[in-house]
Amino acid sequence: MPTKKKTPFRMCISCRSMKDKREMLRVVKSADGQVRVDAGGKAPGRGAYVCGDGECLKKLRKTKALNKAFSCTVDESVYEAVETYFSRKTDDQK
Ligand SMILES: [Zn+2]
Repeated sequence: MPTKKKTPFRMCISCRSMKDKREMLRVVKSADGQVRVDAGGKAPGRGAYVCGDGECLKKLRKTKALNKAFSCTVDESVYEAVETYFSRKTDDQK
């Protein structure tokens, strides 16, 4: 069994599945309260992870999972940025 490398798993804030964080998108809330997409995964602040699978994105918007994860109102543009990120990612795989 290949167990040498530790895979960092994170829970998706939308569908709550555990995934390899490298396959997920990090959204970060910085100290000044700004919420934005952190494609590099390195921005300082509190992070939340979204996997973007199947119904996950629809659910994210429907349940306003980002608002819940950060306990604040997250601008609609952040949800759009998350969707754009995953639609691009899907295009790359074609
Ligand atoms: Zn998900």
